[in-house]
Amino acid sequence: MKGDKRDIRALTKEQLRAFFEDRGDKAFRGNQVYEWLWQKAAHTFDAMTNLSKETRQMLEDNFVINHIKVDTMQRSSDGTIKNAVKLHDGLVVESVLIPTETRTTACVSSQVGCSLDCRFCATSRLKRMRNLNPDEIYDQVVAIDNQSRLYFDRPLSNIVFMGMGEPLMNYNNVLKAIAKITSPEGLGMSPKRITVSTSGVPKMIRKMADEEVKFKLAVSLHSAIDAVRTSIMPFNATFPLKDLREALEYWYSKTKNRITYEYVVWKGINDTQEAVDALVRFCRFAPSKVNLIEYNPIDDGEFQQADDLAIKMYQDTLQDNGITVTVRRSRGKDIDAACGQLANKT
Ligand code: SAH
Repeated sequence: MKGDKRDIRALTKEQLRAFFEDRGDKAFRGNQVYEWLWQKAAHTFDAMTNLSKETRQMLEDNFVINHIKVDTMQRSSDGTIKNAVKLHDGLVVESVLIPTETRTTACVSSQVGCSLDCRFCATSRLKRMRNLNPDEIYDQVVAIDNQSRLYFDRPLSNIVFMGMGEPLMNYNNVLKAIAKITSPEGLGMSPKRITVSTSGVPKMIRKMADEEVKFKLAVSLHSAIDAVRTSIMPFNATFPLKDLREALEYWYSKTKNRITYEYVVWKGINDTQEAVDALVRFCRFAPSKVNLIEYNPIDDGEFQQADDLAIKMYQDTLQDNGITVTVRRSRGKDIDAACGQLANKT
């Protein structure tokens, strides 16, 4: 029977109201159901206790709620939680809760696997199976919000699209999910607390700029020299740095939102003065800051974190040029929950 039933969360509030009206019921029922589905994140029709038993049964006969299910949950010694999330078709993605003293950040996935081919990232070894739909993205956020309340006694404060997948390759669904996350009828979160991280798809960055989105943008840069970037992120051959740079200038002109560049320094790849100088020049095109992230080894040691001296060279050179730079320590390494380690190992 399940095959004939519609996914109720694909309906807008207006469509739900119309559904009830068409059956000779009150349109207002549509609002109630909508509230259960989104604000209260109900997993079953039975949970909708302000509806009559008959109405709940009628919904059950017509619809399904394709809710995600947290399949396994692992906790790191540093408090980080990694969820393996099962989707209605049995595929699995991962999402991570990252606690600090004052914040809880959710790191969510946007695709099952990834369509890109960054050579240092574990997710790239899983081919892209499919895009997540808006509800599947939203559900990850709700699940982490609940965990934050349960284990840390506070609501979720920030969201980063830095889990599996390339968010700008699933643009429409990511934007729909963000719309729901920020809507008062969803979680009512401020878009300023949301960061979309991309490996840099110029066309989509321009599109976001045109839509004047309010969330933050992070770009996984890792090198400001084309030949180097292409060797570690092969799609850079298709979207070279010049195109990326122009799209980012356009982004800033439209949104006035500073860009964060994520950057790992690897031994023998980008740990040279020439590489830092190129980064400094790249940072001049649009107001930006640099986040130096620790490398999380994923395999046989082809890539190695550069030594502290190289990191210091980056910090000093950037600072001397008036560019804000932060160094980010990895979280959740012991459970393979850190950046680039999400690969459905379990
Ligand atoms: N596709 C998006 C979001 C996912 S990756 C993007 O590329 O931005 C999230 C961040 O982790 C990116 O900055 C990515 O470059 C970085 N990353 C990937 N593999 C990593 C690894 N092994 N160690 C540290 N960071 C890594």
